Amino acid sequence: MNLLPLPAFTDNYIWMLHDGRQAVVVDPGDAAPVFQALERLGLRLAAILVTHHHSDHVGGVDALREATGAVVHGPARERIPEPLVRLAQGDAVDVLGLRFAVLDVPGHTAGHIAYYCPAMDGAPLLFCGDTLFSGGCGRLFEGTPAQMLHSLDQLAALPGDTRVCCTHEYTLSNLKFARAVEPGNAALLHYSSQCAALRARGEPTLPSRLALERDINPFLRVRVPTVAQAAQVKNQDDAVAVLAALREWKNEFR
Ligand code: ZN
Ligand code: FE
Repeated sequence: MNLLPLPAFTDNYIWMLHDGRQAVVVDPGDAAPVFQALERLGLRLAAILVTHHHSDHVGGVDALREATGAVVHGPARERIPEPLVRLAQGDAVDVLGLRFAVLDVPGHTAGHIAYYCPAMDGAPLLFCGDTLFSGGCGRLFEGTPAQMLHSLDQLAALPGDTRVCCTHEYTLSNLKFARAVEPGNAALLHYSSQCAALRARGEPTLPSRLALERDINPFLRVRVPTVAQAAQVKNQDDAVAVLAALREWKNEFR
């Protein structure tokens, strides 16, 4: 199986999985890069997976469905271009011989879902949309800090070798913020220089690995004393308050 991030807009990735004949794409905000990849690789588009309703994730859905007949899967509780197979926690999707479990991960949007495959070529695979980024998390447009914490906890509990396929190349700016939160985190400093080198060569920093995210991503580390301290909340044992404070700090951070 092949896993490719197709660059779209300025910093989106449309993830494509293909077996040399058939393909699946996740969050096609733009149809053009997908049509190009299908043509270049001689693939038929079998299915589209959508994580949430934002236009940079669904903008290409109608054109791709119309041209290819691909079946569209998406969140049960959001407005996504119909027709749609509606999914929520506990459901599963079978594509290209792989089974993906659906996880409800509200926070960035109210009905955001993620897709998790426990074994793709020997390791787990996660499509998490705008919920978890490398070194960061999505903005809270529709959900509460408590919802986002619960969603991130759910993702953080997946196996350490899970490949984390996020929809945006936000890694360098996320890591700059993460270093402000945890200037003494050696793993974070090491990962930052690796990512800077990748971006200097024009290469994606993704997919990330979940074990690494648990070591460097402040939004997965709200129960670590130094992180809670940096968030400057009254009760440092209040993980929701720490997450809320970090998210607000990040919104202002340049
Ligand atoms: Zn979004
Ligand atoms: Fe997005």
